[in-house]
Amino acid sequence: MLRDCQRCDLWQERTNVVFGSGRPDADVLFVGEAPGYHEDQQAEPFVGAAGRFLDELLRDILAIRREDVYIANVLKCRPPDNRDPTSSEVETCKPFLMRQIEIISPIVVCSLGNFATRTMTARREGITKLRRKPIRVGSIYVFPMFHPAAALHRGDLYEEVKQDFRSLKEFLESPGPVDDGPSQMELF
Ligand code: URA
Repeated sequence: MLRDCQRCDLWQERTNVVFGSGRPDADVLFVGEAPGYHEDQQAEPFVGAAGRFLDELLRDILAIRREDVYIANVLKCRPPDNRDPTSSEVETCKPFLMRQIEIISPIVVCSLGNFATRTMTARREGITKLRRKPIRVGSIYVFPMFHPAAALHRGDLYEEVKQDFRSLKEFLESPGPVDDGPSQMELF
């Protein structure tokens, strides 16, 4: 059972495995980095400050609710002190994310920040370069975006994060040119 997972050391300090939440048949799936303190406590992704901001962006820009999309993370357990995920943790946990994507089969996966974007596209460039430029990965589109938490740490990114959500809205309404990325098989 994923609930009892001990594939990496993060199980030792976690309270809960945070699998994901939302519509099981969502067209849009958001992928963050890893659970933080509140997510670990409540076993639900994006319920802390970044989550409240995400809810606001969904409501005000996309005119949807979190229940209308699916929300997951690259890592399902909280790294101590919210440190960055290690590459071995990402590799160990990735099959769970890939299986979620396979089952939900969204049209667009919005990768929030560097870790999610690297995990979903295998691109080495940073999020600043990749944001708002959709990449086709097998049968889905990956839409890289700044992580909403970036705006909580750096006020000057607040408008940029909102701009990413406006671009996502435009893309969802009329998908524009896409870049060809790796096949889904290469990521699985
Ligand atoms: N940041 C993330 O990347 N994921 C969460 O679930 C919460 C904050």
